[in-house]
Amino acid sequence: ASSLDVARIREVFPILSELVSGKPLVYLDNAASTQKPVQVIDAIANHYRRSNANVHRGIHELSNRATDAYDGARDKVAAFFGVADSAELVWTRGTTEGLNLLAHAWGTTHLRAGDEILLSVLEHHSNLVPWQMVAQRTGAKLRFIDIDEQGRLDLSTLDDLLTERTKLVSITHVSNALGTVNPVALIAERARAVGAVMIVDGAQSAPHLPVDVPSLGADFYVFSGHKMCGPTGIGGLWGRREALESLAPFHGGGDMIEFVELESSTYAQLPHRLEAGTPNIAGAVGLAAATDYLTAVGREAILAHERSLLAYAIERMSEIPDMTILGPRDLSERSGVVSFTLADIHPHDLATILDSEGVAIRAGHHCTQPLMKRLGVGSTARASFYLYNTPGEVDALVDALQKARTLFGY
Ligand code: PMP
Repeated sequence: ASSLDVARIREVFPILSELVSGKPLVYLDNAASTQKPVQVIDAIANHYRRSNANVHRGIHELSNRATDAYDGARDKVAAFFGVADSAELVWTRGTTEGLNLLAHAWGTTHLRAGDEILLSVLEHHSNLVPWQMVAQRTGAKLRFIDIDEQGRLDLSTLDDLLTERTKLVSITHVSNALGTVNPVALIAERARAVGAVMIVDGAQSAPHLPVDVPSLGADFYVFSGHKMCGPTGIGGLWGRREALESLAPFHGGGDMIEFVELESSTYAQLPHRLEAGTPNIAGAVGLAAATDYLTAVGREAILAHERSLLAYAIERMSEIPDMTILGPRDLSERSGVVSFTLADIHPHDLATILDSEGVAIRAGHHCTQPLMKRLGVGSTARASFYLYNTPGEVDALVDALQKARTLFGY
């Protein structure tokens, strides 16, 4: 049972009225990127119509408008995540840039040969590759938390994995491939006990869980705007003030400096010290409109709606013969993601057939190749839900999957 008025919600997402293959669009690829409400589309358009100029520079009306909107956006997005001091929120292009910033700005200055970085086998490539790069550069070693057969982190090995050599732990809050919700607050507490810095990849939790970020007990949290009804090209890095202060400047250039001499410079205060160059002003404005929108709809109600869609999807999909659903069986341990395989139909073939029915899902390795290998599957198909999805769309997914099964001669 959902308390959301989904019919009304759908009215503010113009793209949901598109036809695909002559059929109504059923958009179930929300873990990859979400659609945008008119509130976000209009905020961006109105910014360019009425307030566009560079920020923090001009002594003129438009620059003041742009600066007010940009600074106000930071305050709003910080508040959305429960962050009182908006100087602790650094704009990035998204989760990938946030993790690369941390790998380079923190990793290259704080890691030495023999130090250990603890990750898990279910990380997205963006929480693996930057650490591989920094490990190669510094001589630090990568270690991994394994998973059980349901795709849940195996925390029984944490005592062995977390030692005084562990300098950094970086774990995803929610798995994009399986939907597993990881106990990151518990892991952060254990990391702290050995003096390690803890990063939470919030790409899949920021949109779906009402996260009070500081209370997770981590040092850093990164997220992407486009997965939470905001525009592409904007996201954020939250850090505890002392943790942010421990980062070396990342990009050098305008806006991040205090004084510049030919041979050396001093740097600006946070957050500007980590934000060189003209920022994505319209992106920040659009993301703030997205957080306003999600708050107005109600994040607890969105979560309850997604949980009920997930339960219904798993119930209906389980009726399909030869269906294998991956991930935790206890639905309270997962978010609105269903990763599955159907008989031996290649997930790309499934996605293509579903597309011809108007149903958009993701198929492939989901940027988690090591996880796929660990699970012994080459790839999976994935349906992922958001506030605007309906039980009727789950029915459309199931009908299309049944059709694919028949087409393949099952
Ligand atoms: N981590 C996770 C868990 C993700 O789901 C994603 C996006 N699929 C990313 C990181 C990377 O996010 P982005 O591509 O927006 O930088």
